[in-house]
Amino acid sequence: MKVLFVAAESAPFIRTGGLGDVVGALPSALVKNKVDARVVLPLYSDISETYRDNMIFMGSVNVPLGWRNQYAGLFTMEYNKVIYYFIDNEYYFKKKGLYGYFDDGERFAFFSKAVLEFLPLMDFYPNIIQVNDWQTALLPTYLDAYFRSVEGYENIKTILAIHNIEFQGKIDKYCIHNVFGLPREMYNVVEYKGDANMLKAGIESSNKVVTVSPTYAQEILNPYFAYGLSEILEARKYKLCGILNGIDTDLYNPLQDKSLFQSFSAKSLPRRKKNKKGLQAMLGLPECDKPIIGMITRLTSQKGIDLLFAVSREIMDLDIQMVLLGTGDWKYENGINELNSYYPTKFRGIINFSAGLASQIYAGTDMFLMPSKFEPCGLSQMIAMRYGSIPIVRETGGLKDSVIPYNPEEKTGDGFTFKTYNAYDMLDAIKRAVEVYFNKSEWAIVVSNAMNKDMSWKKSAEAYENIYDQLVSKN
Ligand code: ADP
Repeated sequence: MKVLFVAAESAPFIRTGGLGDVVGALPSALVKNKVDARVVLPLYSDISETYRDNMIFMGSVNVPLGWRNQYAGLFTMEYNKVIYYFIDNEYYFKKKGLYGYFDDGERFAFFSKAVLEFLPLMDFYPNIIQVNDWQTALLPTYLDAYFRSVEGYENIKTILAIHNIEFQGKIDKYCIHNVFGLPREMYNVVEYKGDANMLKAGIESSNKVVTVSPTYAQEILNPYFAYGLSEILEARKYKLCGILNGIDTDLYNPLQDKSLFQSFSAKSLPRRKKNKKGLQAMLGLPECDKPIIGMITRLTSQKGIDLLFAVSREIMDLDIQMVLLGTGDWKYENGINELNSYYPTKFRGIINFSAGLASQIYAGTDMFLMPSKFEPCGLSQMIAMRYGSIPIVRETGGLKDSVIPYNPEEKTGDGFTFKTYNAYDMLDAIKRAVEVYFNKSEWAIVVSNAMNKDMSWKKSAEAYENIYDQLVSKN
């Protein structure tokens, strides 16, 4: 089986969020199962010299895009047994960061089309091309419009993976012909409610649409979650499914994480305590055995920060401490600074992005709060479980699929959950967790359940392989 992943980001080369984590991990999990999985990325100027020095130039082509004819260079390198390709064009990608430019639609349309132009030079005609999110969602439409009758392309199947439906690549519809260079008959595929909508084009043109958790695949059929695309998805739900992401268990491994005060595993749990003490000392919180609740998050309304502020006084009245690490909307950043000044001995909010501090929080807190309004998959709750911090989550998307509510009768489960997007329901879940925490033997069971859970990519990779097999057998 040959699979080409096309994405706007991938760890370890360049990453801004969950998409980069998935594209960084899934192909190498597939390669372990003997799938020939390769990845194509834009060659952004922010990709470090360390990687660039190992890249080999393969050649160039011209990519016709509307009235333009743009140069594209192809570089390649192998990393972790996966072959990576990088598409070079300084006009589009010699910029700081990845996104946020006025011509993002054109930049990623160029990238998507260039990938198809390059298959002969790669000498790689995949069975499956898996595109990811709006940036690469036009590729299946280009494939249908210009490449289907070309030898080698006839039987390629396409999968669109949606990591977050909020972002759709909506631009002026005049771009469909003038900028994307798509023919008239493709207009209706890309146009939606008066705009050019790149994600919608991907939903229409690909053979399969996969979201990053089964619950999210159901939720986006509902207008509340679908950001305007529920009707399109409802009509195409026969090709929609969800596969829960895994996490990179080598990268997120408390036994080997160099940032921790003390390494530990499920078998050496008493060693974990040094991380709690270390965190408290570092942040100037009193060193005591009260439960610490952690949060590591983008500060946006998606992540349920409003619920935290709605009952912050009630939470702070509990016998707990709380540590939050995050960056984002200024109104939330201000609110966190206020909590810092109201509750200096109980609350510590740090407005920063720091992978090292994130590890220390995962390892040093007892509970991890994630009350998201919606959550396509979510990695943080899985990382928290791996590090022994028990998730308190809202039952939505991947949070619902990855956290099993603790059942005190059966002693099963690995977290605490609540259903509705309501601050008092969240408070109730926190109270339940705190109560179990003070029963040491019971808490040890919850921690053991969480830390021993298999969250590796193995299971997800197998589920993706099943889909590849189904699509290819339809030829
Ligand atoms: P999303 O991709 O929606 O932001 P996820 O839970 O899927 O949420 O992934 C978030 C990832 O980013 C996790 O690995 C988390 O630890 C990390 N992260 C989020 N905010 C910060 C921060 N301020 N500092 C360090 N890491 C962060």
